[in-house]
Amino acid sequence: MDERYEGPCEVQVLLPLPLASAYDYLVPAGLDLAKGDFVVVPLGRREVVGIVWGRGSFSVAADRLKPIAARLDVPPLPLPLCRTIEWVAAYTLNPPGAVLRMAMSMSAALNSPKPTFAYRLREARAEIRLTEARRRVIAVLDSGPPRAARELALEAGVSASVVHGLAEAGIIEQVALAARPAFARPDPDFSAPDLSAYQEEAAARLRRAVHENFSVTLLDGVTGSGKTEVYFEAIAETLRRGRQALVLLPEIALTAQWLGRFETRFGVRPAEWHSDLTATERRIAWRAVAEGRAQAVVGARSALFLPFPALGLIVVDEEHDPSYKQEDGVIYHARDMAVVRARLSAIPVVLASATPSLETAVNVSAKRYQRLHLPERHGGAALPRIEAIDMRSDPPPRQCWLSPKLRTAIAETIGSGEQVMLFLNRRGYAPLTLCRGCGHRLQCPHCTAWLVEHRLAGRILCHHCGYNAAAPRNCPRCSAENSLAACGPGVERVAEEVAALFPEARSAIMASDTIGGPLAAEDLVRQVRDHELDLLIGTQIMAKGHHFPLLTLVGVIDADLGLGGGDLRAAERTYQLLHQVSGRAGRAERAGRVLLQTYVPDHPVIAALLSGDRDQFLAVESQTRRDYGMPPFGRLAALIVSGFDSAAVERVAAALGRAAPSGEGVEVFGPAPAPFALLRGRHRRRLLLKARKDVAVQPRLHEWLGRIKLPHGVRVQIDVDPYSFL
Ligand code: ADP
Ligand code: ZN
Repeated sequence: MDERYEGPCEVQVLLPLPLASAYDYLVPAGLDLAKGDFVVVPLGRREVVGIVWGRGSFSVAADRLKPIAARLDVPPLPLPLCRTIEWVAAYTLNPPGAVLRMAMSMSAALNSPKPTFAYRLREARAEIRLTEARRRVIAVLDSGPPRAARELALEAGVSASVVHGLAEAGIIEQVALAARPAFARPDPDFSAPDLSAYQEEAAARLRRAVHENFSVTLLDGVTGSGKTEVYFEAIAETLRRGRQALVLLPEIALTAQWLGRFETRFGVRPAEWHSDLTATERRIAWRAVAEGRAQAVVGARSALFLPFPALGLIVVDEEHDPSYKQEDGVIYHARDMAVVRARLSAIPVVLASATPSLETAVNVSAKRYQRLHLPERHGGAALPRIEAIDMRSDPPPRQCWLSPKLRTAIAETIGSGEQVMLFLNRRGYAPLTLCRGCGHRLQCPHCTAWLVEHRLAGRILCHHCGYNAAAPRNCPRCSAENSLAACGPGVERVAEEVAALFPEARSAIMASDTIGGPLAAEDLVRQVRDHELDLLIGTQIMAKGHHFPLLTLVGVIDADLGLGGGDLRAAERTYQLLHQVSGRAGRAERAGRVLLQTYVPDHPVIAALLSGDRDQFLAVESQTRRDYGMPPFGRLAALIVSGFDSAAVERVAAALGRAAPSGEGVEVFGPAPAPFALLRGRHRRRLLLKARKDVAVQPRLHEWLGRIKLPHGVRVQIDVDPYSFL
């Protein structure tokens, strides 16, 4: 099985760069390599780290081949991961090196653990003239932790002598590195709960799956039914077998509360992998995974590309969550690719959700996935009662957003010592600001988007590109004073109304821009749990995972918000989000109540939420998609053409339109201006390929793009299975 390459011979080395293919290198005599090994190779005037990918392709004359400089003392990239990288690359039409880059996003982890010294910048530096190479080394150290000489040279793209020269010149100095911290072993039998009969049945099935080959299981249960406890049992069984377990969570669901529960169950915290880790933490976690010392890992979608040598189980919690779709760089869906990695590793994958995605539900109906059902909440907690408030007959006063019914319910709830959560998925004060004098609307200079006023910060922001300016006093166009009017509500505006109506109530806003970071978020969660707050107003970041015993009323300010827009999944997503928000109410002994403010109480999504008939809703949605040949019954792929020069973008889009594939089972729509026709200063046009399920779209896309020559400055992004149509 093991592919070994004993020098002298030729191998292909895949570099973590968007190159069309792997490059051939010479394995010098005396070096013995295997597929997956990390090696240092020359590339132009630099040295880079790559992966031994296979036998040489003999595309270069032997005498022009460059030799591999060294093999790194790191465990090889596991073969199932290599195959996953190839699979993802082929499916998403990305060069394999671009996908490999996601698996090597921590070059710092690659140096051998042996050096116990690293270099850092000296506080008091000698004044000398700096060469470009020396400047690069300093820039690397300036923006990160101390690094060993070899690592520093690699990262700065310089030779080791440059680093040593800087040390001699007194610009950098050596420091001792701390010893590697050990990852404590989670104990599968540390503290197992008594499971209910339903839970035990599901857990037993998952334990069995852990001993078998590839399988996909949907763990389907209402919020609070114990899905987490049940998949913990599958993790425990994986650990007993001496294998590693990976849990994927949407980034914002990875909370101290979740980590605390893991620790309660297994005695130690799992290894973490997410965007908040420092470079050092990433290096430590990556190496611990690669060496098999980290047995349980919880992470956001990129954890899928970690080099587990003995992966035995993948859990994708909240599998329906749209944030599993990575929208830039390599565009992929982490849930779908988790299934791919599990298949290539011959291990089980568990998808958990209270509101499974339509894709998963259809796979269950087709018997491709198994389903385990947890029908009731743990401890007999009742599901919340969900009611609609018809805003046509019970409207709030002008320029207000809380209807009389919702106001009464808030007063009653707070009055009886319980807590309220108001949900509005809109940050800031108002989504649109316009001038009453001339009608001018404040718009982002770089995007097709309105600027959102953030009154607490005194700024106006673009939520798409981050453009940010002081909130103007006067209209920027007609200069009229005091003429700017806020249109519509954001959470800050609802907070203002709450403060006016309930001056005694202790309230807070929970939105990504109003809380300073994970620690502040945890503190806010603690304040709610300890009843230091009566009322919380928040966006979807508070929809997830939290468990507040005293929270008995959830008010949804605008239940219709996600329904417009014509997105393929608008109804499904709105249902999932509102269901999840509703699940925050009444998680303990006290009954919960949910009030949905809506102008369309008869809309199928609202009706399904009121009746609680999720499966009926999914059946209707699924029939509609089937009728129109939409995913998962058909295939979609989007091309997004963008660039700073709008005429060039238009020309490329038109050429793509003319070159579009046609024929049996394939249709192409567009080009059309994207809904965000201007984003971060780039002009954008979209084309959409729709194909029958039995059509392989990748070769079609490949051919199609091959017919076009891209001028400099115009980019075509390919999004296979698009989730965003903006
Ligand atoms: P879900 O993941 O389905 O939302 P959880 O696993 O978070 O459900 O369970 C909800 C709450 O009930 C948690 O506080 C959990 O610890 C508790 N719980 C669930 N099952 C049990 C059990 N068998 N024994 C003790 N507590 C349980
Ligand atoms: Zn913008």
